[in-house]
Amino acid sequence: MQEDLVEEAARLLAASRYAVALTGAGVSTESGIPDFRGPSGIWTRSPEAERRAYRTYQLFLTDPKRYWEERLSRPSLLGDLSKAQPNPSHYALAKLEKLGVIKCVITQNIDALHLKAGSVNVIEYHGNAFKLRCPHCNARYNVEEYDLEGLKQRGELPPRCRRCGSPLKADVVHFNEPIPQDVMLRSLQEVYRCDLALICGTSAVVYPFAELPRIAWRRGAIIIEVNLEPTPLTLEGISTIFIQGKTGEILPKIADKVEEIVEKKRRS
Ligand code: NAD
Ligand code: ZN
Repeated sequence: MQEDLVEEAARLLAASRYAVALTGAGVSTESGIPDFRGPSGIWTRSPEAERRAYRTYQLFLTDPKRYWEERLSRPSLLGDLSKAQPNPSHYALAKLEKLGVIKCVITQNIDALHLKAGSVNVIEYHGNAFKLRCPHCNARYNVEEYDLEGLKQRGELPPRCRRCGSPLKADVVHFNEPIPQDVMLRSLQEVYRCDLALICGTSAVVYPFAELPRIAWRRGAIIIEVNLEPTPLTLEGISTIFIQGKTGEILPKIADKVEEIVEKKRRS
């Protein structure tokens, strides 16, 4: 049964004109990074952490110094992301891009694992944990460009934008924070252009990201969904195909089949 769905998904991908992948925290759980809303997700286990996260953006707007003091004193909820390595889900999507099938990966993840795995056209919809961003002029900086601990010790927080002088925040998008305009625009261009969206490991309840597969669907794109459990996209009948299981197992099977089809086409 699952084999048939994998086969069908591969056939549709190989026949697509412009396929994009939309990914969520589920593609990184097999790299040891917890998700938020899965069975052992961070919010599932700690509603208090979720309540605090809702206040973060407001704190940045009203008191950026304290925002940074709090940020630097508390370990990241996702653990040390710099040690995380891509898993077969990320490699499979990178392979599909190399095959010329996936044209773009739009990810909600902040862990940079798609880039580490070799995907090239990646839109980090909710930002990148290793960057800082100026909310005023949208400039991004690698976190190593700033000595945050030094600024803290000298009482010089927040870090400031070298271009316009505004207080910098983490590049990651907090609750109630608008998606940076450049990212929003590129993502919309991609989903307007696609005729197939492969959506993997997302609960599809965080907006506005969850609007992207819906936009693609309303424009007639095929939606292939891979997730551990059904989501609103499955239940509302938006997914053309739903493959239930781990992305680390299913995506490599799909990528191998697509490769077979593409090679066969090349030879004939
Ligand atoms: P989510 O936690 O809301 O949902 C994850 C979904 O993936 C769940 O439906 C879960 O059942 C499924 N899942 C978990 N492991 C899976 C696997 N191995 N194979 C297939 N499916 C699996 O995540 P979301 O939809 O991405 O939204 C959470 C928000 O939190 C995102 O916006 C993201 O910015 C942020 N976040 C990022 C990371 C990261 O960077 N790795 C981790 C946690 C949260
Ligand atoms: Zn700036």
